[in-house]
Amino acid sequence: MKIATFSTQNYDKQYLDEFNTGHEITYFEVPLNEQTAVLTNGFDAVCIFVNDQANEIVLKILAANGIKLIVLRCAGFNNVDIKTADQLGIPVVRVPAYSPEAVAEHAMALILTLNRKTHKAYNRIREGNFSLEKLMGFNLHERKVAVIGTGSIGKAFCRILRGFGCKVAAYDIYPDQDLKESGVIYSSLEETLADADIVSLHCPLTDSTRHLINEQTLKFFKQGAMLINTSRGGLVHTADAIEALKSGQLGSLGLDVYEQEADLFFRDFSEDIIQDDLIARLISFPNVLITSHQGFFTKEAMEQIAVTSFRNIDSFVKNEKLVNRVG
Ligand code: NAD
Repeated sequence: MKIATFSTQNYDKQYLDEFNTGHEITYFEVPLNEQTAVLTNGFDAVCIFVNDQANEIVLKILAANGIKLIVLRCAGFNNVDIKTADQLGIPVVRVPAYSPEAVAEHAMALILTLNRKTHKAYNRIREGNFSLEKLMGFNLHERKVAVIGTGSIGKAFCRILRGFGCKVAAYDIYPDQDLKESGVIYSSLEETLADADIVSLHCPLTDSTRHLINEQTLKFFKQGAMLINTSRGGLVHTADAIEALKSGQLGSLGLDVYEQEADLFFRDFSEDIIQDDLIARLISFPNVLITSHQGFFTKEAMEQIAVTSFRNIDSFVKNEKLVNRVG
């Protein structure tokens, strides 16, 4: 198949080339959107990532250009209008669980860094400052952690938390029996958030979860709690989170995802003026830690993404059942 791959970084090329099962791949650095969709002319499939946009307009251009398959090299599919893709007869396939541990471990890395301030210690000591002032954290042992969404990643995260001796509370529209039996306490969103020292988001971005964390739900948080979002930026109403940080209702915030990340993440703006005032404000807080959607970014996950993406493509070519089809 002739595949147009968008939002390509060097590491994508490296892994896709290594595990290619014989397809002709063209790499575009630009994201797929209404301006770039024209580039798909002459291809059979597109391969896209988290910040590529496949809305109705884009999908209609893809269909007109003869695109027969959309290959998501990620798990989340909130950036694809699945209904329109179905209507146009273009199947959408994804990589449902390439490495839940990669994201779960990154969520824990954010917690440990925010709590024990190792990023500040690293910088201090490089400047010859060996003071401990303002570096105090808290023990994770016996702390209550609220896990919102206990699918593949949430489950892996619960296992890590139990290793640290945390009390794990969870909210999911489909509670997991194994987790229940292992001692995880499920309750309503409000009850799960209440009294939690840390809240970590692991549910997908859907119409019902968009801005799940907002001015109203932030009031359910324990004063000074930590919020971690490694799922999708749209789960958090950023301006409301900023107000909660200013008032002290939120004690700290760790983000691997950001609602407007499509205009920023995966690129170098170090010599530019950042135009996004919300992220500029977030960066200015001493108790906010942001990473650039790197939760997935381990060798194991990259390999799994490439292998599963080609398996999905090969199944389509052979007219087999598309086990990882969305919708
Ligand atoms: P999953 O489908 O296995 O689990 C999602 C869980 O959320 C399910 O148990 C589901 O019942 C639950 N859920 C759905 N709607 C809910 C709601 N309204 N309230 C509470 N729970 C709800 O997905 P996963 O593999 O665990 O991934 C979770 C999310 O993590 C993905 O949707 C994606 O957005 C994000 N993700 C981020 C990265 C990263 O690099 N940061 C990488 C992969 C995935």
